[in-house]
Amino acid sequence: MTVGILALQGAFAEHKKMYHSLGVNCIELRNKKDLSNHYDALVLPGGESTVQGKLLKELNMFDTLKKQIENGIPTLATCAGMILLADKIQNDNRTHFRTMPITVRRNAYGRQLDSFSTEAEFKGLGKIPMTFIRAPYIETFSEDVEVLSVIDKHVVAARYKNQLALSFHPELNDDLSIHKMFLDFI
Ligand code: GLN
Repeated sequence: MTVGILALQGAFAEHKKMYHSLGVNCIELRNKKDLSNHYDALVLPGGESTVQGKLLKELNMFDTLKKQIENGIPTLATCAGMILLADKIQNDNRTHFRTMPITVRRNAYGRQLDSFSTEAEFKGLGKIPMTFIRAPYIETFSEDVEVLSVIDKHVVAARYKNQLALSFHPELNDDLSIHKMFLDFI
């Protein structure tokens, strides 16, 4: 099995390390040519969604990746990745792939709570560590979206068909449970 990791900006190397420690082969997706390689799943890492969205267009990768997601490739999107998938961004008029029927709020925790770590319940996994960095959360979602984790009444993880979106960064903790769950999901 091969996981393709979008490697334009942000925390892609950390995801790669997690999958390597699970014995899974990864390829970095850096340009349009890379998208014609075979991979069984896609990871959209955290970082800065505006920069990633811009680069995806400039490098001519946007349409192919959007099609792959729409065609059902299992996709793990963390933080900025969640923003790329969202149908709507509450506090930004930019949108990106729009493949997931959720509305997200960018930098939703404000300045004081810019970054924090906590432990919270994740459906099917129990309590897991979660690290948030200028994170978004999901404000509204269509009824076919499955909510996987809620903190202080805010949805921080959800699944829609092939897409799994997380507000937090599972690649920044030692805990491998999210990455393992994604492998089962594939
Ligand atoms: N604040 C970033 C954005 O708006 C997301 C932060 C992250 O990925 N850690 O895209």
